[in-house]
Amino acid sequence: MEFIVNFFENITPVQRTFIFIGGISFFWIIEDSVPLFNFNYKKWIHAIPNLFFTSTTILINFLLAFILIETSDYLIENNLSLYNYFFDVPLFFKILISIMILDLVGAYLAHFVEHKIKPLWMVHLVHHSDHKVDSTTANRHHPIESIIRFFFTWIGVLICGVPVAIILLYQSISVILSQFNHSNIKLPKNLDRLMSYVIVSPDMHKIHHHYRLPYTDSNYGNIFSIWDRLFGTFSYFDRSKIKYGIDVFPSERKNSSIYYLLGQPFQSYQKPTYQKKNDQVN
Ligand SMILES: [Zn+2]
Repeated sequence: MEFIVNFFENITPVQRTFIFIGGISFFWIIEDSVPLFNFNYKKWIHAIPNLFFTSTTILINFLLAFILIETSDYLIENNLSLYNYFFDVPLFFKILISIMILDLVGAYLAHFVEHKIKPLWMVHLVHHSDHKVDSTTANRHHPIESIIRFFFTWIGVLICGVPVAIILLYQSISVILSQFNHSNIKLPKNLDRLMSYVIVSPDMHKIHHHYRLPYTDSNYGNIFSIWDRLFGTFSYFDRSKIKYGIDVFPSERKNSSIYYLLGQPFQSYQKPTYQKKNDQVN
């Protein structure tokens, strides 16, 4: 465990980039071998807007990172860190609890709020309006969403006062898990379901990308599935019936245009419509 903390204490930007690109490349290859859906698409063309928004996400997080570092250092130097005080448990559990809090506040809560507050939904819509969900969809976030998510991560850091190494470890796990659960891979159903008792599995997250309610407003988790199970937002739906996108924003051409997507949050508010009960297959 100390080795991992030491590694993330001294991690360089090059190593962080390697983790990010390594992850996306790995899932990019795997999803070509065992795809969940045969999209028959020009993968690189589809990836252009997604990689554009991935770049803005990386840039915003890079520019704002000093806020997390300053907050963490301040809390630790002034003995205000919950991590140092209250987590009087072995290092493994200290790290696990910290990552769980960061996942709850920085990912689950941020995501939940984005679905419930109207203007934030219109910002988050950019992520949902991808008609072909794959590993490149993971960080398809409008720049405003990247700032919102950063804010929630900052609240998480403020709550637990973790050292910078743990923040970087959390962010690395978070990005890999997000690439994993967005990638267009077909795991054996039982394995996927078994995984979904601990982490957010690919099928579990794909249900969140179904084009109609109530599925869109479920399965908000990113790393741990416990939050959805605990707060009653977990849902199951047959993966073969999943249709991506949002029904009230049906134009795939518009939803693939960077220019259009940059302006999407400023359109009038629309939520997806509810699917008929009969179609809600369990
Ligand atoms: Zn969402």
